Amino acid sequence: MLVQVITIFPDFFRGLFAEGVVAKAITSGTIELRVHDLRQWTDDRHKTVDDRPFGGGEGMLLKADPIFRAVEQIVEDRATAKVLLLSAQGHQFDQAMAQGLVDCRELVFICGRYEGVDERVAEHLIDGEISIGDYVLSGGELGAAVVLDAVGRLLPGVLGNADSTVHESFTRDAKLLDCPQYTRPAEYRGWAVPDVLLSGNHAEIEKWRKRAALEKTRRNRPDLLPE
Ligand code: SAM
Repeated sequence: MLVQVITIFPDFFRGLFAEGVVAKAITSGTIELRVHDLRQWTDDRHKTVDDRPFGGGEGMLLKADPIFRAVEQIVEDRATAKVLLLSAQGHQFDQAMAQGLVDCRELVFICGRYEGVDERVAEHLIDGEISIGDYVLSGGELGAAVVLDAVGRLLPGVLGNADSTVHESFTRDAKLLDCPQYTRPAEYRGWAVPDVLLSGNHAEIEKWRKRAALEKTRRNRPDLLPE
């Protein structure tokens, strides 16, 4: 998968994927990450990428023209690439969206900064506007990294065990969190792991896991369950 990022802070991505499974996917070539400095697509001496909003208001906006030119120059195949703008006003990113992006050959992330991006980018350039949550970040770079990590780990061969992505929160049963899990020692500071997990009885373990996942979802994310 080719992943391209357009940002005014390209150094932000240096080191971000230096370790972990997505780093390995980049090293092995499963993911090709190209990070572009938006200022390359400016013509003035100061490499200006921002300007004041029409109608007044605080802060500055990223201008449309450098972003349009960047996308037009770097995208390899506009018919199949997905060009995504990170934005607090976007559709909220979730596991289903990550799954939906796994088959894309090319993803392009546009990272906003300042007070955001000239709306003509959202209206006429992109394929989707993605928010990573109901809070306001200072830039789209962390959002792009979150989406890249969530999608990248789902690519075939990236995780050692393909089953790991099947038994996960929001995945096995889209409405449930993963079940609680424990590792050795079986007793730690007087807290023992549930007996059933040591029983070797796989049917009972599976039943316990389903029940525990439901309980944990009810406790931490009741909004995921039907009324
Ligand atoms: N004025 C904008 C608003 O209220 O929606 C916020 C702009 S924010 C300070 C600057 C940039 O950070 C945005 O253009 C976007 O790229 C990024 N950003 C902020 N919050 C985000 C979120 N929840 N998800 C994804 N990107 C976000």
